[in-house]
Amino acid sequence: MKITDHIKNANGKTLFSFELIPPLKGQSIQGIYNAIDPLMEFKPPFIDVTSLREDYIYKQHDNGLLEKLSYRKRPGTIAICAAIMNKYGVDTVPHLLCGGFTKDETENALIDLNFLGIENVLVLRGDARRGDATFVPTTGGHCYATDLLQQVVNMNNGKYLHEDYDGIEKTNFCIGVAGYPEKHFEAPNLKSDFNYLKQKVDMGAEFIVTQMFFDNQKYFDFVRKCRENDINVPIIPGLKPITASKQLVSLSKTFFIDMPEDLCDAVNACKTEKDVKEIGIEWMINQCKELVNFGVPVLHFYTMSNPGPTRRIAEAIF
Ligand code: FAD
Repeated sequence: MKITDHIKNANGKTLFSFELIPPLKGQSIQGIYNAIDPLMEFKPPFIDVTSLREDYIYKQHDNGLLEKLSYRKRPGTIAICAAIMNKYGVDTVPHLLCGGFTKDETENALIDLNFLGIENVLVLRGDARRGDATFVPTTGGHCYATDLLQQVVNMNNGKYLHEDYDGIEKTNFCIGVAGYPEKHFEAPNLKSDFNYLKQKVDMGAEFIVTQMFFDNQKYFDFVRKCRENDINVPIIPGLKPITASKQLVSLSKTFFIDMPEDLCDAVNACKTEKDVKEIGIEWMINQCKELVNFGVPVLHFYTMSNPGPTRRIAEAIF
């Protein structure tokens, strides 16, 4: 079922969902099941599976020369989505990236998803590869999420890359995109970022999932601005509890988000990392209670495939 239908059918009740990352190459699917099992009692209608672009690796040759190679450490997004649907009977949302994929590879991936009955996708540009200063598009691939979105919309209209097949069965993907309450770090200002978000919705995106935030006011302001700009699709808050003191800096630095002073003070006052985890969970429970009161459609957790903290939060909310 489409995410938008899950939200409609919930009649205003806040749903629970979460995101997983594919395991490292060579690991079994069991790690994924172990990350899902403790969260199933909270009845997620859908589970997201991220996609990761290739990294560089360096191979030392006998002659001493160092060769730079590309290597995807965490493949398998589509297969994992299919396995989750089969085992748990819940919908899955594979993340589709511009980076690392040609348009033809994307078309083939979308055909596979359609065959598998996977009806939702989250379309994203993806970040720069480790070792690249900025995002470098793949040769033959897309530059921006808008371009990738257009490809999915085209397929929903029966328009494929090389031919307009006559009488083709159109795909019917429900398309989600990313939104940034605190602005995407490359955008010169919030207005420019908003204009591109609006463009994505006008082109056919049906829901938005936000970057994580630790101050609900940022989300509330973002939703208000979206509505003022006629962006009327569901805006799903993406959430992650702090679980270690170093994350005050690392999450802020990686995702270009503000850490509220009160949260920093509370974490800095902790004597042990166990205390930090408790503070992080407690902070997130309070955030979630306020978000539910606000009427958010879904609480969506970035679990990083570690279900423990999310389970504690879900126990307090659902
Ligand atoms: P875009 O929408 O392409 O925007 C990128 C930048 O360009 C922005 O500054 C925007 O303002 C600007 N822009 C947008 N469109 C245009 C245009 N047409 N012309 C000029 N400028 C434009 N990363 C992964 O690698 N894998 C994942 O699975 C993943 N999942 C994510 C899930 C969520 C919910 C979120 C919020 C992020 C996720 N990311 C993931 C990270 C994401 O890929 C990065 O934040 C990336 O830098 C931007 O992606 P985007 O889709 O927002 O890009």
